[in-house]
Amino acid sequence: MTFRNTFTWVLSALAILPLYATANIDITEAPSRPKNMIIMVGDGMGPAYTSAYRYFQNNPDTEEIEQTVFDRLLVGMASTYPAKESGYVTDSAASATALATGFKSYNGAISVDTNKRPLTTIMQMAKSRGMSTGVAVTSQVNHATPAAFLVHNESRRNYEAIATDMLQSDADVILGGGQKYFSEALLGQFKTKGYQHIDDLAQLESIAKPKVIGLFAEVQLPWVINDVDANTLSRLTQKSLELLSQNDKGFVLLVEGSLIDWAGHNNDIATAMAEMQSFANAMEVVEQYVRQHPDTLLVATADHNTGGLSIGANGEYAWDSELLKGISASPSNISATAIASDEWQTGVSKSLGFELSASELQQLSNARMQGDEALQTALKKLIDVRSNTGWTTSGHTGGDVQVFAVGPAADLFKGNQDNTQIAEKMMTLLPKKD
Ligand SMILES: [Zn+2]
Repeated sequence: MTFRNTFTWVLSALAILPLYATANIDITEAPSRPKNMIIMVGDGMGPAYTSAYRYFQNNPDTEEIEQTVFDRLLVGMASTYPAKESGYVTDSAASATALATGFKSYNGAISVDTNKRPLTTIMQMAKSRGMSTGVAVTSQVNHATPAAFLVHNESRRNYEAIATDMLQSDADVILGGGQKYFSEALLGQFKTKGYQHIDDLAQLESIAKPKVIGLFAEVQLPWVINDVDANTLSRLTQKSLELLSQNDKGFVLLVEGSLIDWAGHNNDIATAMAEMQSFANAMEVVEQYVRQHPDTLLVATADHNTGGLSIGANGEYAWDSELLKGISASPSNISATAIASDEWQTGVSKSLGFELSASELQQLSNARMQGDEALQTALKKLIDVRSNTGWTTSGHTGGDVQVFAVGPAADLFKGNQDNTQIAEKMMTLLPKKD
């Protein structure tokens, strides 16, 4: 019996007890308050992404459609609209502000209100209770989502200031990309504050204690599709859990699959599915941790939808996930290689995993003569047509997103809610301040 089942069973048992028995039970003191909380954000990961991922990972040789971690842990939905002045369609900054502070703000805001005044974040609240905090992401660590959890700034674009302010956040674990924003002088200040600094994933194993700032790429981490075996986000997540769990008072950790959104902006389904795989794997790492540590709550969601992804397009009642599984490199990589070689056709076909028709070869050949960007676009178009994948925009869309949860108080996140309420609920689960 899992903890969650036990918890549900206890609740149902309480419900059938006579009234006098329940009157003495303070539900807020029931074993429903987690010691540790992990919030996971699939950037741009609207419902179309989790459904697409289900078919992407499905084994066609079995009768059933295999469930994903998303199917297993789904509990509700959340609206994501930003503050009124920004309309109905949020950006990552306003949504991350909502998830980190419980307040809506304008698109671009990093945990400041519509008057640009700082809003208290769940990470600050955790720190004030002696808990540990951390972020593990696949973008640069000073990108919108991790930034909103750790600092305050009137604009997500102030990357240098956000990087500098991370020093004040006192976060125990900072893992992701972003070397170009952290000067030697700034890293020196981190070291003075007791941080170990690493810039190579191989060094991760040598880190046995907080604090750590690990920056593993100039900006964002490499596309997963070009190195699916690296399991980078899972490794960062695993290490974060190991380090943060050393604090008896508990921890709050943010894990973000940042590049799902970037692939969505590029309308690049093959790259997006690999990023989804990586995020799902990291979610399974946390799910496993929660099963082994019943005092830990996982809440996962998306900050918004990206690209208007559609499973099926061109009037066809079909979506070819098998074709997508066979693609072994990102269109950006395939294009760069093809531009550099005269004998490009075989390589392209090999990376795509299927034979190209004469007209497809002609289209790619024409695009190749116009250069890298045109060839990338042509490759993505070809993949979309072949797989019946549709997109409506290179930006965000305003549909609601899913909420996933497991662990103590997971039921709090059931049903329909606003993204600000996700933060409010998590904040009420923090221990009372001494
Ligand atoms: Zn986003």
